[in-house]
Amino acid sequence: MTTKICYKCKNSLNVDNFHKQSRSPDGLSNVCKNCKRIQDKEYREQNKEKIDLKSKEYRKNNKEKIALKDKKYSEQNKEVISKKRKEYRERNKEQLAERRKQKYHSASEEEIALRKKKKKDYLKNAPEHVKQRKREYDKKYFASERGKNVLKNSLHKRRAQMLSSCDNTITLDALENLAKEQNYTCKWCNKPLNYELPKQIHLDHIIPLAKGGIHSIDNVCWSCASCNFKKSSKLPDEFIVDLNA
Ligand SMILES: [Zn+2]
Ligand SMILES: [Zn+2]
Repeated sequence: MTTKICYKCKNSLNVDNFHKQSRSPDGLSNVCKNCKRIQDKEYREQNKEKIDLKSKEYRKNNKEKIALKDKKYSEQNKEVISKKRKEYRERNKEQLAERRKQKYHSASEEEIALRKKKKKDYLKNAPEHVKQRKREYDKKYFASERGKNVLKNSLHKRRAQMLSSCDNTITLDALENLAKEQNYTCKWCNKPLNYELPKQIHLDHIIPLAKGGIHSIDNVCWSCASCNFKKSSKLPDEFIVDLNA
């Protein structure tokens, strides 16, 4: 016998079109594979809640078993999985890019801060070749139109912060006095400052402008270039002075 009539669709079909079923007299299911698929689908649709509940319970009770199975599967099918993933990414390139973009731009301020911190921490501990790559990237970036604009905006913002919080107490005399008060040393590391090399002497905001500090003589100090760079926009207690620098 090479053909069989499907109980459901009444078509006479090759036996290949029937699933095996040991209980039945001829060892085959009485509905064809196609009808079985439709039946199963209908069943799943009609019993969605029941099935969901059951599978949820099963997953809950067999967490370890499932994890083990998943692990085994992914180990045995590494290549297939990575190929599939790659294909999926290829196929959905645009949607994925859009989703990433939306996720990126819809992030809350906290998420953005965390993202920045993560990136910074990563770079701080990154191997030298990564740092070098970043420096090269920055150099190119700030030479590009977009990078130039970002830099300009940032400097503009900083200047605006400075002007808006400026109380006109930073006069030449006041700055001279400040240097004297600091014994002509760096406020942070106490190293002598070389006033013959003005580029190495930085006027540092003790509470950074970015954190609400003001541009006032009470909020500035003389600092060496190294400390100023390291302090960047940290608060004094967030900043650890490196005496060996
Ligand atoms: Zn059928
Ligand atoms: Zn210093």
